[in-house]
This record gives sequence, structure tokens and C-alpha cells, in this order.
Amino acid sequence: MPIPKTLKDLLTLPTAPFAESAVMRYLARTCARLPNVEVAFDLYGNLLAVYRHRPRRGRVALALVAHTDHPGFVVRERIDRRTVRAEFRGGVRPEYFPGARVRFWAARGWVRGEVAAPARARQVPDVAGSIGRPEDVRIRVPEPVAAGDLGMWDLPDPVLRGGRVYARGCDDIAGAAALLQMLQNLARRRAAGEIYVLFTRAEEVGFVGALGAVRAGTLPKHVPVVSIETSSVLPGVTQGAGPILRVGDRAAVFHPGLTAHLERVARELAERNKRFAYQRKLMDGGTCEAAPFLAYGYVAGGICVALGNYHNMDTQRKKIGPEYISLSDWQRMVQWFEALACDDRGYEDAADAALLRPRMEERWARYAELLAEALSGSAGTAPGRRRGPGPEAGVATGARPPGTRGGGDHGQLRATMRSRVSTRR
Ligand SMILES: [Zn+2]
Repeated sequence: MPIPKTLKDLLTLPTAPFAESAVMRYLARTCARLPNVEVAFDLYGNLLAVYRHRPRRGRVALALVAHTDHPGFVVRERIDRRTVRAEFRGGVRPEYFPGARVRFWAARGWVRGEVAAPARARQVPDVAGSIGRPEDVRIRVPEPVAAGDLGMWDLPDPVLRGGRVYARGCDDIAGAAALLQMLQNLARRRAAGEIYVLFTRAEEVGFVGALGAVRAGTLPKHVPVVSIETSSVLPGVTQGAGPILRVGDRAAVFHPGLTAHLERVARELAERNKRFAYQRKLMDGGTCEAAPFLAYGYVAGGICVALGNYHNMDTQRKKIGPEYISLSDWQRMVQWFEALACDDRGYEDAADAALLRPRMEERWARYAELLAEALSGSAGTAPGRRRGPGPEAGVATGARPPGTRGGGDHGQLRATMRSRVSTRR
């Protein structure tokens, strides 16, 4: 089976933070041809596509968000005929730079080069701490490239090997491609449903496109946002075992009600389709665009596929290498998106989370009596231990755990987002 066309085309295009035009043009052109899809760029060049066809009245649709950039270079200036000074945008550790091969997207196509001078790294603030980011990288090139040209690591076009897709940058082009594939599938089968898709820019330098979308009000405030990512594979998840319900990232834990909704739709899909599978995990290898949306009061959650060679760092060979994902994870993620777009009930705050309640009630009905016995001190009380009602006594009086609504705890995140915007040049 070949790589699906949408995925292959997008993984072949050049992209870097603030230099996403090739990917954006492809997405906009393809979406514009789809029936029941409305498409528009926002004030900051993020692309919004909305699929809407006979949606049930009063149903709340989701927004799925993926970014269109990947860590890469942008040429600042030519130093001499054979050397340029480039800025690297994104998180790649400095030891991967010396001698690494680079390719620039110049007027006449790709121009290959090599990192000449070891990169100087600067510590820049990250949402969850700080990260070394090489700037001012000197690169030797055999042909001229111009200021503003973008560069990527010199890795081959996408290939499929052993069920895996290897590419110059899966993060997050594979996520964006999965969303486009979903729109194409919905449009082709004229499915009844509704879904917002937001393709953002410049995530790799700190969600800058998403922050622009928040400021521009690109997505209505009542629409829950799901960040779609490829996320560094971690112990506890398996590539090929299905897409991952991402319950949080390195900066935040996501909205419980929305997370329960995403999981219900996945569970129901798995019951209908025995070949569908998903995993559930706190993917704290990095941060994602749920964090900026949470910081500004949106309900937000996440779905991702596990990514190998995160940010092109092949940690075994200690060299730059292609990123890779499992093709079946990607395909099953597309199925999950379609199910979310067409889910009859849609998202209702806490409705899916409340599905847990009947199971809790059942357990309570079965064991409440034993709990009461223990309080009477008849069984299992160690000598010398304090008797009588402990802190759990509240359970018996029907006291409820505190609510989970409200964005107050994300206020700290918001301060970090603000400082990021103000320190951007
Ligand atoms: Zn990334």
C-alpha cells in the first residue's frame, strides 16, 4: 500500500516557522474544492476550514487544530559567495548541528549545504522551563541562496518502510495531513456533521500562530479545541497500537469533560469497527497547542500519534535523522476525526464524564454497608490507632468533590504566553 496522496504531498513540501506558505497554499487550494467546506485565512495567516452538512441543531462541534511548520532554518544574510548565516527556529539540541547536512528552498528548487561553524546556543524561555536554541548558524552552500529562504535538514522525501512513514518532518505536517484527509473523506461521502479545522503557523517557536488565533478570535469561544499532534514516543505507548488520547502535555493537564468525550467517541468507534484501536497517555515529552487555548479560557484537549526521532534527533545514532510515524496509527486517527465530526450527541460539558457516575453508584450500593461497619470499629482496627470518623467521613454525608470547571489554574500559563509574545522580535 502506498503512502496516501495527501500525506505524501504535504510531507514533500518545504516548511519552517513563519515560512509555511507552500503547505498553506496546498491546504487552502485543496479545501476550496471540497463541497460543504468553507475556508478562510485569519488576520495572522492561520487557515480555518469548516465542514458543515446537515448538523443536528444545538449540537456543539469541535475544533481540531494542527500546525503547519516544522523546526527549520531561515537565511538571515549571505556572508560570502559560499556561506550564509541562518537562524534556526525550533527545539533541536546544539550537538546535532556540527557537520549536519541542510537543504534550502531557493528560487530554482532545493540547494544542498552543510553546517560549517558550530552553532551558538542561547537559552530561551519555554512554557515549562527553558530550552537551548542554536541561533546564528553558518552554513556552506555551493550555489547562492537569498535572505529569507527557508532551510530544512537534508533528508529524503517521504518513504514507507515496514508500516512506518519516514519524512523530513512529520511534526506536525502528518497531523495537518490527517485533518485534510478527514475533510476530503467527509466531503466525498457527504456525511452529516460539523467540524472546525484550524491550521496554524509558527508553533515550533512557542505557539505563536495559535496565540494570534486566540487574539483574532478565529475560533468561537464556545467551541472546544483539540490539539492534533505527533508527539515523541514514550514508555507506555506503542507505535502501531493506535492514535493516542492525550490527557495532557508537559505544561498542562487537559479538560476532563472534553477528554471523556473524545474517549467515548473512540470507544464507540472501536465497538463498531474491530480494527480500530486507541491508546491513552499523558504525553509529556513536549508541549502542544492545547496549552495556549487553555490559557485563554477555551476548553481544550489533545489527540496525537507517537513520533520516532522527535525533532529529527536520532538519539541512538546521535545524528540528524528522518522523523517517523506508523501509517496505521495515522489512518486510525483519521477515522477517529470522522467519528468526532459525525458524532450525534456532540460535545456537552461534563456529559461524557458523568457516564462514570452510574458505575460509581453501583459500587457504592454494593459496599457502603461495609464502610459503615468499619466506622463502628468492629473490624480491622489496629491497637492504638485513632478511632472514629477520619477525613473520609464526608463521603458518607454526600459531600461532593470540588468542580473541575474554570480556567483560574491556567492563569500562570497565560503569564508565560504573554512574556513570549512580548519578547518576540
Ligand atoms: Zn514540534
